Amino acid sequence: MSNTFQQLFNAQKENQFAVGNSTYSERILKLKALKKAIETTYKQRIREAIYADFKKPYIETDLTEIYPVIGEINHVISELKGWMKRQKVHTPLALLGASSWYTYEPKGVCLIISPWNFPLNLTFGPLVSAIAAGNTVILKPSELTPHCSQLMAEIISNLFSEQEIALVQGEVEVSTALLKLPFNHIFFTGSPNIGKVVMEAASKHLTSVTLELGGKSPAIIDASANLKATASRIAWGKFVNNGQTCIAPDYILIEESVKEAFLKELKVALHTFYGDASLSEAYARIVNEKHFNRLINHIEDAKLKHGVIEIGGASKVADCFIEPTVMSNVPEDASLLQEEIFGPILPIKTYKTINEAITYVNSKEKPLALYIYSKNKTQTQFIIDNTRAGSTCINTNVLQYSNHHLPFGGSNNSGIGKAHGIFGFQEFSNMRSVLKQHTKGSIEFLFPPYSSLKQKLVDFTLKWF
Ligand code: NAD
Repeated sequence: MSNTFQQLFNAQKENQFAVGNSTYSERILKLKALKKAIETTYKQRIREAIYADFKKPYIETDLTEIYPVIGEINHVISELKGWMKRQKVHTPLALLGASSWYTYEPKGVCLIISPWNFPLNLTFGPLVSAIAAGNTVILKPSELTPHCSQLMAEIISNLFSEQEIALVQGEVEVSTALLKLPFNHIFFTGSPNIGKVVMEAASKHLTSVTLELGGKSPAIIDASANLKATASRIAWGKFVNNGQTCIAPDYILIEESVKEAFLKELKVALHTFYGDASLSEAYARIVNEKHFNRLINHIEDAKLKHGVIEIGGASKVADCFIEPTVMSNVPEDASLLQEEIFGPILPIKTYKTINEAITYVNSKEKPLALYIYSKNKTQTQFIIDNTRAGSTCINTNVLQYSNHHLPFGGSNNSGIGKAHGIFGFQEFSNMRSVLKQHTKGSIEFLFPPYSSLKQKLVDFTLKWF
């Protein structure tokens, strides 16, 4: 296996300058071909493949798989010309007669490893940035969504030569073999634990990495929040994709006085969305039995420790189904509050003062997202100033992902580096500095041998320039 990957890698390495020196128009043609494939030729098959993987409703596939990639391509098409231009910068007077600029040059041969939860979006999204930046790419999607991975392999092999973009499928051993190769950049989306494996492997070749990871993203709701709107937005952000979303609110911190009123609104919102969720066409499923059991264990563990099921709780293993489930009174040592949930279970914790909520958030790893529901602007800013997170939404959730003008990513345990728009383009590029000397002389009058006059000139320069 590793021989084949080495050959593929070598072929892409040989081809990297041909791809890297492609013009703006050539890159746009590639992106347009990808767009046409996703938007038209393969659209229905994409919906069917992801439905076969975890019963994701077609409309959710349109909204959260197809639309974000198309949106990313459209954004790149309108901006790429500017990004590819020489970026002129100021040159200090002391460097007399020189001018300076930098350009974004492609990193070279890149590896993109993606997870299963948004299998198309999180594979083709970074690919758009990699193509825009002029790289060759090997893609390794998740083995847990085989229908989508197979279809993406077909799309890629129909659109690109292997020397430019190739998709390889397989389990951990495939990733492990790929990670031995001296890629110029690795863009990994997945769990923090595997992120560490990727970073360690990358360190052997000093390969740069983008790590888009996960963790526990809190939603803080204070007593001033509009509880009805908050409940329906959280119900959507949490249970879309069956809760298998890296930026879904993982748990709620709510001011004690409004907990009961919020729960009432949440119950209404969930009933409106799904009715009997087991029969709802709008409710996806957990990706496989292993993850189903992991989630059931969370519920059982919390119940054993006197956690209370406020909403839902029903499940059906044969269908990998767990009802939208909301729990309260969950003690701190329950696994629900210790591990990233990544499924349709939402624990609710109460707080009395905002400082208590902030201290709790800061006792954990920096989250990928932190959501604030409040009408109080001062308090909202106070929360932002006194916490750290990859991103924040105020009075909504999850939507930050959809704005390509915003950098998307985590901080430390929730990620390194950013995706989307110019930020994704930058991840796949090296900013190459160029300084050009136009005139004779300039700083050469300071070259050795040194003299007292030169010392005076240096003193003057240090003082004035
Ligand atoms: P994962 O880390 O288990 O797997 C991700 C990818 O890594 C898969 O392609 C998998 O085959 C590969 N992989 C698995 N074990 C490996 C190993 N030992 N060495 C090398 N590669 C290996 O993650 P997952 O279960 O697919 O996805 C869920 C996680 O991803 C959650 O933590 C979630 O928060 C995170 N996530 C983050 C983002 C983001 O944009 N920040 C988006 C989606 C998911």
